Amino acid sequence: MMDHYSLSRTLSGLICCSFIIVRLYFTVRYRDKTDPDKKIKAPADQEGRLSYMLRRMIFLPLILIFTWSYFIFNPSWMKSFTLPLPEIVLWILTVIAFMAIAFLIWVHIYLGKEWSASLKIREGHQLIISGPYSKIRHPMYTALFTIYLSFALVSGNLLIIVPTILAIISLAVRVKKEEDVLITEFGDQYRNYMLHTGRFFPRF
Ligand code: SAH
Repeated sequence: MMDHYSLSRTLSGLICCSFIIVRLYFTVRYRDKTDPDKKIKAPADQEGRLSYMLRRMIFLPLILIFTWSYFIFNPSWMKSFTLPLPEIVLWILTVIAFMAIAFLIWVHIYLGKEWSASLKIREGHQLIISGPYSKIRHPMYTALFTIYLSFALVSGNLLIIVPTILAIISLAVRVKKEEDVLITEFGDQYRNYMLHTGRFFPRF
């Protein structure tokens, strides 16, 4: 039988690798080779400089450093930041994470080439309102937040959990900006779409 710490590392490692494979696949598939306005509209201006800088320069590097260290070097001092959740909770969170990864694949397929890591309107950008987008305006963020949070909790390491929560918050605050950009581009079509959809969850 695996001890609790090895179980945490194995399950969180599985979540992490599966997520990276899925994300890499869609990044390569839909990368924008003809990005004419990349240099004109800086992504930081689009989504708010502070949250962008914090996420890119502080939270993401911290998550990367500690995740890397947790999986590869596994130093003993990292263990003192462990929050040991009951084993059953680790398993439940892992199942939730894999359901969210499946949901992410579905979302990616529907968003197709309109996807980009930073906020922008592509040439010939189409508003997607079907599939997962028929009830939720930001299903990709719902999927990502669920995957990130379950991964961090399964790792059980506070050095990963804390910057992950901060990164989620910084991504969540850009949603308002994203909706402003989409309203500017699509006008009433997006305003009407907002009436019968929820931001992160379906509206009942
Ligand atoms: N917020 C969405 C998409 C994230 S990807 C979600 O969580 O599912 C970010 C890009 O998607 C942005 O550049 C934005 O222009 C684009 N986008 C967001 N919603 C869209 C929609 N309904 N149709 C087409 N593009 C959309």
